[in-house]
Amino acid sequence: MTEKEANLSKNFMDQISPKTQFKKNKINNVKKVIAISSGKGGVGKSTIAVNLAIAIKNLKYNVGILDADIYGPSIPKMMGISEKPKSEDGINLIPVKKFDIQCMSIGFMVSENTPMIWRGPMVASTIKTFVNKVLWNNVDFLIIDMPPGTGDALLTFSQEIHIDGSIIITTPQDIAVIDVKRGIEMFKRTHVKILGIIENMTSFTSDDGIEHFIFGKDGAKNISDKLNIQIIEKLHIDIDLRKSSDSGLPITEVSIDHRISKLFLNIAKKIIKII
Ligand code: ADP
Repeated sequence: MTEKEANLSKNFMDQISPKTQFKKNKINNVKKVIAISSGKGGVGKSTIAVNLAIAIKNLKYNVGILDADIYGPSIPKMMGISEKPKSEDGINLIPVKKFDIQCMSIGFMVSENTPMIWRGPMVASTIKTFVNKVLWNNVDFLIIDMPPGTGDALLTFSQEIHIDGSIIITTPQDIAVIDVKRGIEMFKRTHVKILGIIENMTSFTSDDGIEHFIFGKDGAKNISDKLNIQIIEKLHIDIDLRKSSDSGLPITEVSIDHRISKLFLNIAKKIIKII
């Protein structure tokens, strides 16, 4: 695919044109908001959101996670949460606490089998409900697991909510990289600071010690070079990370000394420094 084909459509550009004045609201009782986004699904965005949140918590901060991935909310499963958030007044929602992290997800409101085929206005109003009706309690860092791509939800978020920094997750694949460039462009136009890229699934090392570049090479490096955005970290394919995410027991919570947990701790320290 050429650069020309990856260009944003005129409609989209008009929607997010710099002419628009964005009135960005702060989230109540939250000091810093970090958005985790990706150009497409399945690149490990939620896995990284969860483990980054726990790593920041392990550095003794108060942390919240907002699962805004309305099309595939996976935070409840990855955090092993089955209970629903409570409400004392029937209007405002109290986040569910797990592993000492305050969690809110659209996944709490719908059954696992409900297809999230929502239209634009519904997406936007859900996001506003989330932001206005969640009773966060003295959160230092709120990690938002964004929906993939550059659709309505991401656009509403970037335009209407104050985000202190965004982190973009990509695999080294060409196709993922093209999607990422689009996302980066959108953040720039909506004046959201980009903290950097995390390349996920960089390679897989087999038992014989050979490193396999399953998804190609240098995807994040290409973005970093072309768009002058730093690579925060590269994460390799790791079976323990996969198993722990799928079982609702994040590796950063249950195996603090694991190589991956230490890597996430470093990522957390870097992010706290640059945000
Ligand atoms: P996304 O949020 O981008 O859709 P997920 O975080 O749900 O992606 O990850 C998709 C799948 O890939 C999950 O099963 C997750 O456990 C797995 N996964 C993510 N990152 C890695 C990794 N570095 N190594 C092994 N498995 C991973």
